[in-house]
Amino acid sequence: MNNKKFELKTSGITESVWYDEVPQPIKFEKLKRNISSSESLDVIIVGGGIAGLSTAYLLSKSGKKVILFEDGYICSGETGRTTAHITHALNDRYYNLEKLHGEKGAYLAAESHTAAINKIESIVNEEKIDCDFEKLNGFLFLDSTDKNESLDKELEATHRVGIKSTKIISKVPNLTFDTGPCFLFPNQAQFHPLKYLKGVIGAILHYEGEIYTETHIQDILPPNEIKTSDGYTAFAKNIVIDTNAPIIDKISKIYDKQQAYRTYVIGARIKKNKIPRALYWDTGNQNSENTVAPYHYVRIQSNKEDIDSKNDILIVGGEDHVTGNITNDKDIQEKYTNLESWTKNRFPIEDIEFRWSGQVLEPKDGIVFIGHNPGDEEKKNVFIATGDSGNGITHGTIAGIILTDLILGKTNPWVSLYNPSRIPREKSDNSKSSEKEEENNNNNNNNNNKQEYSSTTTKKNKDSKIKPTSLQDLNMEQGIVLQDEKIAAYKDSNNKLHLYPAICTHLGCTVTWNNS
Ligand SMILES: Cc1cc2nc3c(=O)[nH]c(=O)nc-3n(C[C@H](O)[C@H](O)[C@H](O)COP(=O)(O)OP(=O)(O)OC[C@H]3O[C@@H](n4cnc5c(N)ncnc54)[C@H](O)[C@@H]3O)c2cc1C
Repeated sequence: MNNKKFELKTSGITESVWYDEVPQPIKFEKLKRNISSSESLDVIIVGGGIAGLSTAYLLSKSGKKVILFEDGYICSGETGRTTAHITHALNDRYYNLEKLHGEKGAYLAAESHTAAINKIESIVNEEKIDCDFEKLNGFLFLDSTDKNESLDKELEATHRVGIKSTKIISKVPNLTFDTGPCFLFPNQAQFHPLKYLKGVIGAILHYEGEIYTETHIQDILPPNEIKTSDGYTAFAKNIVIDTNAPIIDKISKIYDKQQAYRTYVIGARIKKNKIPRALYWDTGNQNSENTVAPYHYVRIQSNKEDIDSKNDILIVGGEDHVTGNITNDKDIQEKYTNLESWTKNRFPIEDIEFRWSGQVLEPKDGIVFIGHNPGDEEKKNVFIATGDSGNGITHGTIAGIILTDLILGKTNPWVSLYNPSRIPREKSDNSKSSEKEEENNNNNNNNNNKQEYSSTTTKKNKDSKIKPTSLQDLNMEQGIVLQDEKIAAYKDSNNKLHLYPAICTHLGCTVTWNNS
């Protein structure tokens, strides 16, 4: 496992490749005062990932007075764990989106993701952000469980939704393995997410936005007030909740409309230029019960600080499972081992240097939720963005665009597609729906807890034998739930014991511990 460079992460203990070049946490002051309504703040944004920072950037650039609060440090959440494929190759496939949202809906999805790629590029250029941004091809090849027909259907669908440049070719060129027929998406992109957002932050500050980190928002009190866990309050005309999993779900019940998945990534050393720079995906295991067939996602990252380096890092992700369904070390380790063998069978890799995991929220109808917080129809000044699945970099950027337009009172063509109040039509395979429902009930938003333990609300850990059973047994960096599931205990790397109520503040389920 990697050496940890800093502790305050809100989605697990592992550390991604991105911290190699940005080893210091991106941090600001903690909020230590009340912000009264007389300060005439236009927007409070909660969450310092790509969605929050894109929203803060676009609003502050438009002249709005904005403050952003982040619980950990900047990118403590999923944005610090992403693989940052910037793409309109949506993992739900356009032919499925057409079934669920009609041709018009799928067209708007394609249009908005293409616009997000362009928006990121224009921000990089306009703000002169040095973040390894590059345009490249994306290749989608078949998983062994999938058929050529899937590629044919997607080709027709992408052309119908306005992505005319796609084509099917006989194989991905210049790889050491034969992918078989594959789908080419030209004009995709990649970047270093932390470097990009550091640049975006520079621009937010230039436009007089303010940012506070290590500031946990405990309560949202619509229409205008928020409360921090240190007891400070702040008022603004609008509140945007860009916390990935919304922290204001008592009314919206948005978690009934999406499901949390854990996903795993390895970073392996490869000889420079050995593998063509591109984005790669397979179409995923079609026999899986997951909402989205668990697929592999691949890209290459160079360490620009190390210009003499003869190596690059091949980043490979996959092995997704419903969060909480796997909690013991052995099964988690197996996920990394599977990724490693999948990669070794296809790419000429050397040592594995990085291993990390993260979480994605899969909306039941494949489309993210961005807009007015359900239940806030009257005042319309509380907003959410959630459910961004494996396309959260573009989704987070789309959130910035839509929420800025809504707050500025501008018309935006994508608002109804992304409306969080919609009742999602579910994906087709009904034979699996009852099992999925059960998984869903088990799963029931464990992503929402942003505390010092990694929480799950699922079945009991199958491997409880190897876990500590009392506080005395607890080693450093281990956790346990005690006293009839009332207390969650965690011993940190400094041997300090942390005790919390074991009841999740979201919907009242009991958390369990897992070492990731
Ligand atoms: C392994 C992995 C690979 C991925 N690969 C890709 C990819 O290739 N392409 C792609 O497009 N997407 C990808 N995604 C998805 C994408 O990275 C995420 O969807 C996106 O980064 C989420 O951004 P966000 O701003 O919504 O959330 P986050 O980055 O999680 O930001 C939310 C922030 O809110 C903070 N917060 C939470 N609660 C509070 C509170 N109460 N008070 C204050 N702050 C709070 C958190 O600390 C966090 O920093 C991947 C995700 C993972 C995990």
